[in-house]
Amino acid sequence: MAVDQRHEMERLLRLQRDAFTASRPESMAMRKDRIKRAMALLKEHGHTLAKTMSADFGSRSAHQSMITDIAATVSAGKDALAHIDAWARTERRKVQFPLGLLGAKAEVRYEPKGVIGILSPWNFPVNLAFGPLMQVLAAGNRAMIKPSEFTERTSLLMKELVSEYFTPDEVVVITGGPEVAAAFTSLPFDHLVFTGSTATGRRVMAAAAENLVPVTLELGGKSPVVMGRSANFARAGERIALGKMMNAGQICLAPDYMIVPEDKESEAIAGVSRGVERMYPALLENDDYASIVSDRHFARLQGLVADARSKGAEVIEVNPAGEDFSGANARKMPLTILRNVNDDMLAMQEEIFGPVLPVVTYGKIDEAIDYVNAHDRPLGLYYFGHARREQEQVLTRTISGGVTTNDVIFHVSMEDLPFGGVGPSGMGAYHGIEGFREFSHARAVYHQPRIDIAKLGGFKPPYGKASARAAKTLMK
Ligand code: NAD
Repeated sequence: MAVDQRHEMERLLRLQRDAFTASRPESMAMRKDRIKRAMALLKEHGHTLAKTMSADFGSRSAHQSMITDIAATVSAGKDALAHIDAWARTERRKVQFPLGLLGAKAEVRYEPKGVIGILSPWNFPVNLAFGPLMQVLAAGNRAMIKPSEFTERTSLLMKELVSEYFTPDEVVVITGGPEVAAAFTSLPFDHLVFTGSTATGRRVMAAAAENLVPVTLELGGKSPVVMGRSANFARAGERIALGKMMNAGQICLAPDYMIVPEDKESEAIAGVSRGVERMYPALLENDDYASIVSDRHFARLQGLVADARSKGAEVIEVNPAGEDFSGANARKMPLTILRNVNDDMLAMQEEIFGPVLPVVTYGKIDEAIDYVNAHDRPLGLYYFGHARREQEQVLTRTISGGVTTNDVIFHVSMEDLPFGGVGPSGMGAYHGIEGFREFSHARAVYHQPRIDIAKLGGFKPPYGKASARAAKTLMK
């Protein structure tokens, strides 16, 4: 990376921070205007962005992109606009008795942090850059965005569009590969939001630590689907198939593996297979089905399957039209279900992030819970079934970023729920009020009354009886 590029990033950060400082206190109208501009950018160029994402992937449904990347992100903007006034309201807090009677006041003000870095991945290139942006702007911040190099055309288009809708001291996009990304994470931002893999997340946090930059890490992991015996396996299968096949499994919240009762394994696999067949009668020439984003990612997924096969897994390809994928150059891959898996297999160690679905079995639900607990805390956890007690058992004895019951992924689409991971699947959360607060500084403000509280409370030398009395009262 050219030294110039680093200097340019430093210059932009200074420019934004100076503008931020000079504009305080900035009106709420300005924040709203910025959110509206971000929404207008998406609405006016949604179709072009969708086409560009498809070009980056090789194939990706424009319908899907319009929903997952454009509409979903506009919806985050709408939500922010609807609630920004309530979110930003100063909160009165209690003061200890009898300070209130004497005129003391306490409050929390949610103030902007300043300049926020947003580092985003390729799988939902628009959503994961502009989604956090809506709340970053709602909180009154400026933003520098570094989107992924794997969706290069989309990143360049976002850069161009952002420069049309925003001044560089408000929002800018910086493009480049891992080197630029690494330099980006070493900038002294006021906050850094990273969405990407757990491995890169570690590096991002280490780089941010150098400047004590607070981070939100939206990472990945192996999100399990726990199938209860009471599940409707046909319906569950259809829902799992939808979540696993969307974007060809390249979703942070995609169901990673299923854990099913031993005697229901075949039924569970049949349910998912039928779900795939119903939605995707064919895959290769089907625009509804996305390609794997790059040759490298494609090879990694093939490698996961080969590794599992060589270690004894049974490999079931769900190939509804019996197409020949071997000769195709489209980086499309059918759903590949793996049976008889074990933890020696890479597919049970790494986040899959593609259309490969291992199936683990259990005898009693406790074994499923123990299995989940013996592994990294996942980003999402899914429970299918209608046994209330069992559902509560699964929820109260496991830990994950979020949960959807009787479906997969859906919790992320609830604007009023915080979205984030826990432990290796991330830290911090955004969406809704949690997002607003994540990108705000909760500033404690205390207003002292005229009366000499220090003297009254015995805190003021010379210390004496009043001080001893005060200490005693405080400990009562
Ligand atoms: P990635 O970690 O490879 O890349 C993400 C970003 O990090 C890119 O912009 C890249 O340029 C940058 N980067 C690369 N090397 C870097 C370095 N050394 N230092 C700093 N930044 C660097 O992730 P990806 O492959 O683009 O995305 C897939 C991963 O993202 C999966 O693990 C998935 O689960 C996760 N993900 C999480 C969420 C979420 O919201 N929790 C959403 C989508 C994807």
